[in-house]
Formats: sequence, structure tokens, C-alpha cells
Amino acid sequence: MTRFDGYRLLACPLCHTIHATVNIVSFNFMAPEHWSDSYSVYSLFDNRQGLRQCVTCHDFFLQSDAPYLGHITSEQASRLVETPPAYIPPSLRHKSGDTPDTRQSWIKRFKEWWSGKPHSQPPPEDTKDTQAVDEARSKKYPRLKSANDEDLAGILEHQEKYSVSLIQATRILYWVYLNDTYRRTAKALTEKGQIPYSAFNPTETQIDNMRTLLALLEFADGGSRAITIAELHRELGQFDRAIDILQKVAEPCLKSETILEAARQGISAPIPILYSYQKKK
Ligand SMILES: [Zn+2]
Repeated sequence: MTRFDGYRLLACPLCHTIHATVNIVSFNFMAPEHWSDSYSVYSLFDNRQGLRQCVTCHDFFLQSDAPYLGHITSEQASRLVETPPAYIPPSLRHKSGDTPDTRQSWIKRFKEWWSGKPHSQPPPEDTKDTQAVDEARSKKYPRLKSANDEDLAGILEHQEKYSVSLIQATRILYWVYLNDTYRRTAKALTEKGQIPYSAFNPTETQIDNMRTLLALLEFADGGSRAITIAELHRELGQFDRAIDILQKVAEPCLKSETILEAARQGISAPIPILYSYQKKK
């Protein structure tokens, strides 16, 4: 279950504008679709690799680099936190049969879904930060905004401005974003009863991004890094390398097993990961 408790106040590291972001205390990954490249559809938790855009200077930063200035309770939020205009994609809009109750809960979850970070809760002693509380009394804070897919190429064009961690986050998002073209084709072919894998023909931009991302990840830390590296090798058609890495994963999971099986079958296309709650009965 995804639960929220108030907001965290985070400053833009570049211009110091203070933003509010929902404080997620627990979350789940349930979503209608999960894919091998970590794409998921309308997930209740999508951290967007922590890549954020300042509402004032419009530059990009990692949420982990934004200084924490304090906490706003859920009760204070309506007075202190701006409510963003809610855009609901057509596929999430309600049909006429919905009851008011299901409508309200769904909209609430959707609005809070867009931003937020599930880990690194504020330590209790920081919650009475006086400066943040004083500032909180005087104005409403804008919501912290994630970077859009359309921003990613521009960030990479000016990559000398940014940290290696920010560029790595951007390249992961760009990889997933560029795979969306194939996802659309695959969906259409699957609906016609055809096997879609041969339609995955990555462009030079995609190949270049995947190779550069692999080089960055070789030096990075992180629990699921090995699976991501294996998936990149598989999508580049380097099946033996992918199999070798996945056979050494200490705790195999459905995702690593699905990618391993695809590599063994010589499939390079991104593939859906089907969890039991998604399987048709
Ligand atoms: Zn800024």
C-alpha cells in the first residue's frame, strides 16, 4: 500500500527555491504493466530516477542533492503547499459508471503519484527547523516537479554542466523513453496475434545511449544494477554477457529470470514482466 505523510521541503541546489514534495512512508510497485527496462505504466510509485526540474530557474537537479529544510504536516498542506493543476491522461479518466467514492480516491492517488521519494524520510530532530517553519507561514510552496521525457535530450546535450550521477539518471530515463516507440509497435503487433520481437531495431541514438549508460553503470553502486547491466547487454544483442551476469545474481527474482530466459532465446527486444496479479485468470 502506498501511504503519504505530509510534505518535505527541499531547496533547489542552484537557485535555492524551496519546493514541497510528498513524504512517502510506504509504497508499492503495483502497476498495470512492468517491463524489463524498468518501464512501468501509471505506477503508484515512480521516482523518475530522482531527476527534478526547478520551477524557478528551470534547471535540473537530483532530489538527493536538494538540501532538506523541514517538514509540513498533512493538516498544514492545504494552506502551505500549492496544488498543481491536475492533468489526468485520457486512459485514467473515469467512465460514467464510477461512483463518487472511487473517483475521489483515484484522483487523490494519481495526483500524489507524480512526485515523491519513498526512502530517506526526514530524521525526527529536523522536523522543527525554525527557518523552514517561518518561511512556511509566509507563502505557499510549489510542488517539486519531475523532469519530463522531452527534457532528456537537452540535458544530455549540455552534459558537461551536470554531475555524473545526474547524467546516469538521465540516460536511464532516456533509454526507457526511447524504447517506447518499440512498445507501441509491439502492442499493435501483439493485438494482431503476431510475435513482436523482430520489430525491435534500436536507432544509433538508442545504441549510443545504451553503450554510454553501460560504461557509467560499471562504476555505479546499487542493488538492481547487475540486472540493469544485463538487460542493456541483452538489448544490445550481447546475449552471452547478459546470461553470464544473470546466472551470478545472488537472489534471482521474476525480473532477472524473465530477462535470463529471453537472453537464452536470443530475444533482444524489451519484454513485459508479468507478475502473478497481472496474469489473466
Ligand atoms: Zn532553481
